Amino acid sequence: MRRKLVAGNWKMHTTLAEARRLAAEVVAGLSGGPEVEVALCPPFTVLAAVSEVLAGSPVCLGAQDCWYEPQGAFTGEISPVQLLDLSCRYVIIGHSERRHVIGETGELIGRKVRGALAAGLEVIFCVGETLPQREAGRTREVVGGQLDEVFDGMLAAERVVVAYEPVWAIGTGRNATPQQAQEVHRFIRQSVGAKYNEEFASRTRILYGGSVRPDNAADLMGQSDVDGALVGGASLKAGDFCRIVEAASPAGR
Ligand code: PEP
Repeated sequence: MRRKLVAGNWKMHTTLAEARRLAAEVVAGLSGGPEVEVALCPPFTVLAAVSEVLAGSPVCLGAQDCWYEPQGAFTGEISPVQLLDLSCRYVIIGHSERRHVIGETGELIGRKVRGALAAGLEVIFCVGETLPQREAGRTREVVGGQLDEVFDGMLAAERVVVAYEPVWAIGTGRNATPQQAQEVHRFIRQSVGAKYNEEFASRTRILYGGSVRPDNAADLMGQSDVDGALVGGASLKAGDFCRIVEAASPAGR
């Protein structure tokens, strides 16, 4: 059985006071048991403060990106070791905003995944196609290529969670249908199985991300290959986020 994971990506939102309040509201609002793992991924500037709020709670901390070297002359960057120092467990790598807005290449994303894993973090590795790519029937080719860029030549992908986030669904209010999500998730699991082995693929968690809300979360996470959600906009409202977490538990579906 794969334990569901619901992770909130706060993106470039929250001041210090807002972040402390939001994290505390999430901790107070969660009612579920241990069957769902919950993580919050706030901006770098508030990681330390949120880490203090989450201490002693079952909610894990994650960051939204990191550099691939443990330290050095990389002005403005944050290393995986620094994230571990703040009690981060997860780091998101390859988010579509970093690929398409900031221009990160698959090669850089691969380095970041390997650097984060080497330091001891768990990686939420994002893949997904744009709308023109989907409409041209290229979803598998694009997602398969993104998986190759990271997994080819990597001996073990333990501690990698894959997040399928169709670019056209992120922040648009237009989510993939549960069937569209399941189809790509199945493809990702088969690809991971072909690269490593089926037993490993059956243990690999694959999250869906893209306009997940309380009203669509249960249907999306009810699909057999959807192992949780990466939540952007809805993670900024504690009540909505907690309802999405509830939708991930067997009792919530
Ligand atoms: C995200 O940022 O990863 C995301 C899925 O955003 P949203 O839920 O707002 O679409």
